[in-house]
Amino acid sequence: MNQEQLKTSLLERFARYAAIGSQSDLARADSGIIPSSDCQKDIARSIAGELRALGLSDVTLDDNFYVIARIPATPGLEAAPSFGLSAHFDTASDAPGDNVKPRIHRDWDGSPIVLSGGFTLDPADNPDLAKCVGHTIITSDGTTLLGADDKAGVAGIVTLAEYLIAHPEVAHGPVEILFSPDEETGHGMDKVPLGLLKSKAFYTIDGGHEGELETECFNAWKTELEFTGISLHTGYARGKMVNAASMAAAFVNSLPAQESPEATDGHYGFYAPIMIEGKIESARVTLFLRDFDRAGMERRLDTVDALARAIEARFPGGKVEVKRTMQYLNMKEKLDAAPEVRAKLETAAARAGVSTYSKPIRGGTDGSRLTEMGIPTPNVFTGGHNFHSRTEWASLDQMMNMLRTLIELAKCWGE
Ligand SMILES: [Zn+2]
Repeated sequence: MNQEQLKTSLLERFARYAAIGSQSDLARADSGIIPSSDCQKDIARSIAGELRALGLSDVTLDDNFYVIARIPATPGLEAAPSFGLSAHFDTASDAPGDNVKPRIHRDWDGSPIVLSGGFTLDPADNPDLAKCVGHTIITSDGTTLLGADDKAGVAGIVTLAEYLIAHPEVAHGPVEILFSPDEETGHGMDKVPLGLLKSKAFYTIDGGHEGELETECFNAWKTELEFTGISLHTGYARGKMVNAASMAAAFVNSLPAQESPEATDGHYGFYAPIMIEGKIESARVTLFLRDFDRAGMERRLDTVDALARAIEARFPGGKVEVKRTMQYLNMKEKLDAAPEVRAKLETAAARAGVSTYSKPIRGGTDGSRLTEMGIPTPNVFTGGHNFHSRTEWASLDQMMNMLRTLIELAKCWGE
């Protein structure tokens, strides 16, 4: 396959996947149902079928619709270490995601791209887009998201398989593929069939702008606070009532406003109240805590406890209970302990002519969960942008550089 054929194949595949609605459902995923939507089963079946049709014999679709496949090593490299590539086939539910109609803007001239529904992609407001004059830009029609997050990653990996099968002269070791449901609900790795994976390292292909490599993410905890008051008739409450709704409001008010998601970026962490509900008798607050630093996270957890005690002091008779749950951890420590994983990626990108840069992820990925489970997994760019929105777009030229990087990565792991 020459570069033009590869590009055509990548575009056709991406547009085909984008048109298959596959939004995940947070409430169902939270209740333990994986995949959380039936449409994800359809796309998983279709991807598994396509991998088999390309000539891969080792393709598994497991009970939770994870797709695991293997590209065998070229002769002589069977003993080379296996590495894995992973992408998620669900899309976010933050914007409509059914009936996606990809629009292809070939040789884009740099003028604003007008979508339906009053949405415009203006390079003046999108500095990354302004860098892509002359590229083939892919958008939705404006009524839905595009789903480059993460179908650009899925299309890249499947096209890599097609390329390696068509080119037995390209020497590489064993390559493992993992396509997963429910990344967007935060439950993407809950049911991952770890026992079936053979690779000691993976890469998630789920990042944004060309060259972006992510080896660092937040430490993430959730705290759930239960406020208990004393309910009385409001007309006879003086000196006796303890209002749990007021306690919850006072607690949220006592959080440092300069350490909120709205006030931070880069390496700064935050406290984010994401839910508050209640009555006089009882009230609840759910709070997300985020910090890149482990000691910083300890400080945040202690602060929440101290503020809870302060609320009890201010509302005598009221009670505050705090429940902590760890969500995911910064993968940096474990990736630093396996430097060859990142080194191979950087070598591959350089050989593909891509200049790389690191970006801290202000969130988590399937890769952070896999890393925690003992498989170091950094995240690689896809060429997609403005994720989870109707103005989501991807550059086919950047997607091609993702694919070239993956081809070089397969070669690197075989050396
Ligand atoms: Zn994603």
